[in-house]
This record gives sequence, structure tokens and C-alpha cells, in this order.
Amino acid sequence: MAEVVVSNFINGSFVPTSSYIPSFDPSTGKVWAKIPDSGQDEINMAVSAAQTAFKTWSVKPAEERSKVLMKIADLLESRLAEIAELESRDQGKPVWLAKAVDIPRAVYNFRVFATSILHDTNRSSVMDAVGAVNYTVRDPVGVAGLISPWNLPLYLLTFKIAPAIATGNTVVAKPSEMTSVSAWKLCEIFNEAGVPPGVINLVFGVGPKAGEALVVHPDVPLISFTGGTVTAKRLRTSAAPFCKKLSLELGGKNPAVIFADADMDKCIPTTIRSSFVNQGEICLCTSRIYVERPAYQTFLKKFIEETKKLKVGNPKEDSSFMGALISKEHLEKVKGYVKIGVEEGATISCGEGVDTLDLPAGIKDGYFMRPTVITDLKENSRLLKEEIFGPVTCVVPFDTEEEAIMKANDVQYGLAATVWTQDVSRLHRVSRKIQVGTVWANCWLVRDLNMPFGGMKDSGIGREGCVESMDFYTEQKTICIKL
Ligand code: NAD
Repeated sequence: MAEVVVSNFINGSFVPTSSYIPSFDPSTGKVWAKIPDSGQDEINMAVSAAQTAFKTWSVKPAEERSKVLMKIADLLESRLAEIAELESRDQGKPVWLAKAVDIPRAVYNFRVFATSILHDTNRSSVMDAVGAVNYTVRDPVGVAGLISPWNLPLYLLTFKIAPAIATGNTVVAKPSEMTSVSAWKLCEIFNEAGVPPGVINLVFGVGPKAGEALVVHPDVPLISFTGGTVTAKRLRTSAAPFCKKLSLELGGKNPAVIFADADMDKCIPTTIRSSFVNQGEICLCTSRIYVERPAYQTFLKKFIEETKKLKVGNPKEDSSFMGALISKEHLEKVKGYVKIGVEEGATISCGEGVDTLDLPAGIKDGYFMRPTVITDLKENSRLLKEEIFGPVTCVVPFDTEEEAIMKANDVQYGLAATVWTQDVSRLHRVSRKIQVGTVWANCWLVRDLNMPFGGMKDSGIGREGCVESMDFYTEQKTICIKL
């Protein structure tokens, strides 16, 4: 395939740039695309287009905006296979996964927000004694700056674009420089669907340059960011002189708490998926598994047996459960954590350094590693505290419910957790006490976009999804009318 050249999408047109950066195919380690190295000028151009478009888009009836979003969803669905292949090439994930999860979810994002804005309601309250009625309203914020990561490229980018434009904002989005190609293709669909010029603008480039320019732009009152906690700290500092709305969806160190009475036939396959799908590169992936001691040995044996069966290989093959990690640097970072485990005296029960990884010619230079299970860790091991964001999971026994809750909460992060037990009271009790934004009880990654999504602690601020609580509206305004 010839090298792909990506261009910015501003005011409904593809705009070439003067300088580019390379984008690597993680499965081969070779450059396959060129991405614009945008900066202040490109961001200024895009913000100006979005500001002009806001004047008409924000006052369109919800029904009209809804139709445009539905059209985007239909067109994206009709090009699902083509876009899934681009996404796999960009990120290293298996094509089957992009076809089954990423792109269908991107389609769903547009459909859900297209329809939910039609059913949004306000709060009202009547004051009998004084004869007054109060009601609340919320409006679109303006030009929304959207910054997204590489791990679920279109899934997450569209989870920002769809609600932002559905509620009447216009957007300037900067996808990750490591996975920009599928986002660039999506722009063709925006034009075909009749999105008015300037409503959606995409500017490609690196975070410290294009991203930073967007964050400090005075005419961008809202930044919705998904990415690492360290990046978010920098972003908050840059945005501090402005009074911007900030929505931050950040890292996680997600526990699975498994009680001895759990239905292991469901729990083990789901926990394997929650640990290793997408190469463990989902912010919601399980990376600490706490198992009640009576079930610990049986769980561990089966978990390792099943993990060893997972095929790591060519993302184009349906039989590959896992593809390649995003980059050489990231692969080294993830393997580095396994080394730390070894130095700390932990046991590598399977995977990196223990099982062989035979890769066929053609993908030998790709960024692959085997799913790795680590046990016998020290209580304060870095592997139990820091986000690894790869196919590495730690298994630890516990004795009491209180101990499990304490261990689950003993990290800086608070994104998601799973709890496994057949005791309904315990399920509610433990779920309530774990300090995370989402608890999945006897399941994982079952997402209802009518419910708010986001983190606690260092996993973020603000909420996405759920029109009622989302950050793409202004704060509530109360209007009081004396009758
Ligand atoms: P990252 O923080 O390196 O980059 C995220 C985005 O921010 C990219 O588009 C990047 O170019 C941009 N960026 C980098 N520096 C910037 C700066 N100074 N100013 C403005 N923008 C800047 O994260 P990543 O490596 O792309 O993604 C992995 C991280 O994202 C993990 O920590 C993961 O847990 C997290 N994540 C969280 C969620 C969630 O919903 N909570 C979802 C997916 C990923």
C-alpha cells in the first residue's frame, strides 16, 4: 500500500500542511502514513471556522441536528470494513476487533446522541407561597476542543464529537498523532452527511504543539480530554489562566474483586478478556485481580491455562486474539514493568520471558508481546500501583471482604472495577465501597450511554455520555418567573 498522506479538515475542506510527521504500523514497525505537524496557525484557522459555524449550528432545532448525526452513523456503518482495516493498521489491534467493537461503537455513539437530544427535559419547581415558577436551562458551550488518545481511536473520538455537536456545539478535534488515519477518513463522511462547513474541524499533530495550542486558545471555552493522568496535569496548568470547562478522562488501575462463590465459568473468560483484549490497552482493562483465598489456586490455574491459549499474531488474521502494542517505546515500557516484577521477586506465571512468541516473517519487527500473568507480588509493588496499559495483569489472594475493598482502593486511580459474587447483598455493598466511576458486577464493559461515565480520584473530572449530566452543556441556569 502506498504511503497515506493525511491532511487537516478545516471548514469542510481538506487542507494540506507544510510539515509532516511519520506514523508507524505497529504490526510491522514501518512508516505507513504521514500526519500533519500542525501548530498554532492551523488551530487558529480551525477555531475561527468553528466560531462562525456555531452561530447557525447552535440555533438549529434539535431535530435537524439529529438528522445529520443519523446520516453520519448510516454512512459510517456502510464503510465499516474499510475503516476498521485502517484503524487496525494505525493501532495494531486485530481487524476483527475493530469490526466487532470499535467501529460499531462509533456508529452507536452518533445514533445514541442523535436520539437522546430529542428527549432531553428540564427541571422545574413551583413556589406556591409566592406564586412563582422556576426552571433550569442549559445551552451549548461554544467551540469545544476535543483531544483524544490512540487506544480506541474512533470509539473515543466519536464519543466526544457526537455529543458535542448533538447539543449544538461546534468542534476542533485533535486525535492522537499515533492514530490519525481513521479520523481523517471519517471527515469524508462528515461532508457526505451534510455536516455544515466548520461544525467539525480536525487538526492533526502532536500534543505539546497542536494540542497545547488548542488548550490555550482563548476562544475555546471547553476542553474535553481523554488521555494520561500526567498529560492532564500539564494541560490543567496550561488552562489555568482561563476559565475553561475541563472534562478529563484519564488513566486507571482497575481491580477485579473475585469472591469464592463467583460463577467461575463466566468470571474467568470475562476476566481474561478484561485483562488482555486490545492488548490490554483499554483504560478500563483489569490489571489487578484479587481472588478470595479458598478459590485462589483453582482460579489461578485455570486463568493461566486459558491465557496461554490466546494467540498473539497478525492483526489481519481472525485467529489472533491480540495484535501489536502501539509503539516500540510503549512495548519497552510494558516489558519494563515485567522486569521490575522479576527484580522485586514476583513470579511470572506465564507470558513475557516465560513463553515463546513465534512471529511469521513480515511482522517480526512489530511490537508484539505475550499476555503476562504475575503473582507473588510485594504488597506495595509498583506493578500494583502504576498504570501499565498493556497485556500484564497481577493476581493476588485476599481473606476478607474488608481487605479486598481496602486493596482495591489503595491506588491513586479510580476509573473502573469488576466485582464477582453470587451474593446479591455483597454485590451491592462492595460495589458501593469501591472508589471508582464505574463498577461492573458479574460482567465487564457493558456500556449504557444513558448513564454518566468518568473517573474518580486521579482518573479524571467531569462526566461523558448521558445528555443530562454531560459536560458539553453550560452549567445549569435557573430562570424564575413570578406568576
Ligand atoms: P496521552 O496523554 O499521551 O495523549 C492523549 C492526547 O493528548 C493525544 O492526542 C496527545 O497528542 C495529546 N497531548 C499530549 N500532550 C499534550 C499537551 N501538552 N497538551 C494538549 N494535548 C496533549 O495519552 P495516550 O498515551 O494517547 O493514551 C493513553 C492514556 O489514556 C492512558 O493513561 C489511558 O488510561 C488513558 N485513557 C483514558 C480513558 C478514559 O476514558 N478514562 C480512555 C482511553 C484512554
